[in-house]
Amino acid sequence: MIHLDYRSRMVLFNLLLYTVTFALVVFFAVEGIWYSSVSNVKTNIEESAVNTELLVEQQTTGAAAVTDRITWFSSNAQQVAEIIGGYSNGVVYLYSLDGTPLNRNADTEPTNFLKAEYEKCADSDRSVFSIRTINGQDELFFMTPLEFENVRIGYYANVYSLSYVSQLTNYVVIILLICGLAGLIILTFLIIRFANQFIQPIKDLTRISKEIDNGNYNVVIQYKWDDEIGDLTEVYNQMTQNINSVIMQLKGERERLGSVLASLDDGLIALDQEGNITASNSYLKTYFGVANAKTIYDFTYQSFLRDIFDSLKRHQNYISEEVECNDRILLLTGSPIRQPGLEENYMIIIRNITSTRRIEREQQKFISSVSHELRTPLTTIIGYTDMLKRRNVQDPKLLESSLATINREGHRLVRLVDDLLSASRLDNLEFSVRRTTISLDVLLHDVVDQMRVKGWQKEIEITYKSEPDLPLILGDYDRLSQMFINILHNAIKYSDKGGIIDVILTGEDGWLAASIRDYGTGIDPAQKDMIFSAFYRVEEDRARSEGEGGAGLGLYLVKQIAEKHNGRITIDSKVGEGTNVTIRLPVLEADGTQKENGNA
Ligand code: ADP
Repeated sequence: MIHLDYRSRMVLFNLLLYTVTFALVVFFAVEGIWYSSVSNVKTNIEESAVNTELLVEQQTTGAAAVTDRITWFSSNAQQVAEIIGGYSNGVVYLYSLDGTPLNRNADTEPTNFLKAEYEKCADSDRSVFSIRTINGQDELFFMTPLEFENVRIGYYANVYSLSYVSQLTNYVVIILLICGLAGLIILTFLIIRFANQFIQPIKDLTRISKEIDNGNYNVVIQYKWDDEIGDLTEVYNQMTQNINSVIMQLKGERERLGSVLASLDDGLIALDQEGNITASNSYLKTYFGVANAKTIYDFTYQSFLRDIFDSLKRHQNYISEEVECNDRILLLTGSPIRQPGLEENYMIIIRNITSTRRIEREQQKFISSVSHELRTPLTTIIGYTDMLKRRNVQDPKLLESSLATINREGHRLVRLVDDLLSASRLDNLEFSVRRTTISLDVLLHDVVDQMRVKGWQKEIEITYKSEPDLPLILGDYDRLSQMFINILHNAIKYSDKGGIIDVILTGEDGWLAASIRDYGTGIDPAQKDMIFSAFYRVEEDRARSEGEGGAGLGLYLVKQIAEKHNGRITIDSKVGEGTNVTIRLPVLEADGTQKENGNA
């Protein structure tokens, strides 16, 4: 079965209505024309019968007997028929009382047909009308008795062709058909327009409903008429507008929630009962390498997340767990989200505690290093003092060497405590470098002079050269002095007896470069990056055997001070050939500023 759309059905229904109405109109029009034409003809024919009677009466006035009139009628029938026929349409026939045709102008065929009419008329004493189709033409047959003073003298008959009535009816049908066709065309056009006007808003509603289904709520139906459809479209527009504003509100809320989640420093997953992720942030990708996860089961390799989810579903209230994942230590905390009237949901927070744990480890290492460093000289001091006390030493040589050791270890303790204090002050965030305008040339002169005395103890010569007219720098004089003292201290410490140390200061595009070159033991390239860590020493015994072994804080302090001055440190060293430590510091620009991008 063909399924027609609403519009086509509407058009077809209207056309059907029109066709039925039109057929009825045509039928009644034709019937009306036919009826009125035939009754006109009837009246005319009846009038012609009356005229015949009148004519006969006129002609026979004064005739004595009825038979005279009948005789006159029979003998003058031809003439009467011609006179009457002259002003009557159709052919007039006159018959005698016994049914014999009296006039000649009749052809035989109608006369034969009229026999039956004659019999009916003679039997009933009344006029007879009948319509017959002869040779495809409608013919009206009429017969009536002719009477004077209630005496019958014969019969009058008339055969009238109804062809002109049929013709008229045909014309009418043709005209009606032409008009009907034109009406049909006009009506079809109007119906289609009318249907379109009704259908368009429905089409618009359908289109907009589809748009809404696709998530576009920013749509309006245009309809200009103030009718029922107009009311419907208005309600619809209002509805989409409301939905749109609610959706915008929800979007805004979601964006706000998204930005809150994004600004968190921790990873977060919110889950429903089925394990679907209802909210999350980008840390999930950072920590687990899983992007666009939809459910907890998308974390294939992170079974710990599923375990927490399963425990929460088993109504455990709070779960905290530390896991190692992709070189990170993560603290996972799971808890349920309960809201009255809503299904229980769950939340897992993931915190990266790698650096916290590392700092804790560093601190522990630092404390044990410090304890160890303090303990070694103290043990020596206590050992020697115990020995002196117990043995009551008289030998001046032994006494002197013992006191020298106690003194040296005491100094080592003081140095260690000084270094620790400096390191803790530099670590402290509140520490700030007291910057003044200084000449690095003057500073290095002072430091070299100071350290020369120390070098002489190992017969080491320290030279100093600088370019003339070097620009000034901005820095903390004491800290920078301490930095260069530490470097020179190491250079002396790791140089052989009788060696040379060259200190050179040069200017380089925006920087001052101070190099401290020694020709001592050198540093293994594998150790180069570690020597700046606190308490790091390449060889425990080597430094200690020198009697002035540090605690591994010297270069750590150098690095801290250089960083605070936006400086850069470079170390070139070869084992057995010596070490060249270069410190670059930004010069003071004419406008009083200096480079900020230095890195150690
Ligand atoms: P320490 O106070 O023990 O000297 P530092 O932090 O100053 O500690 O130095 C760390 C390590 O770097 C030292 O143990 C040493 O092995 C190495 N080092 C530093 N400077 C030099 C140098 N000029 N020549 C050779 N080795 C050096």
